[in-house]
Amino acid sequence: DAALAAAASPAAADTPTIFDKIINKEIPSTVVYEDDKVLAFRDIEPQAPTHILIIPKVKDGLSGLSKAEERHIEILGYLLYIAKVVAKQEGLDDGFRIVINDGPKGCQSVYHLHIHLIGGRQMNWPPG
Ligand code: ADP
Repeated sequence: DAALAAAASPAAADTPTIFDKIINKEIPSTVVYEDDKVLAFRDIEPQAPTHILIIPKVKDGLSGLSKAEERHIEILGYLLYIAKVVAKQEGLDDGFRIVINDGPKGCQSVYHLHIHLIGGRQMNWPPG
């Protein structure tokens, strides 16, 4: 399928995904945080009362965390910091979970790096 093809193709790194359409406001999303570098919006299929995706606006080859290079260190740190800011904004004061799925075995389906911020209920461990 498309996700597997994207993972396998060397050209996948900058192939546009549905998240580009969300960034460009070509398809609607519920944005909870936005600045010049990142966008945070509600997941369309929430796995918890709060489920938000935090993504870099410029993909720059970051189809997934496994594609990270040294040039991405700053945006990676920034994304994680914004995850904390949004968690606070959402009132997740008793805890939350951050997830980055990578590749087929990580259950990644959209090949544009994103951090899942999940909260509002008790989490379990280990994950499925
Ligand atoms: P998975 O689908 O296994 O969670 P990912 O980690 O790649 O894999 O997550 C992609 C996420 O993007 C999913 O949680 C999915 O519900 C979400 N998503 C897909 N399309 C949209 C959309 N148009 N608006 C908001 N979220 C979306």
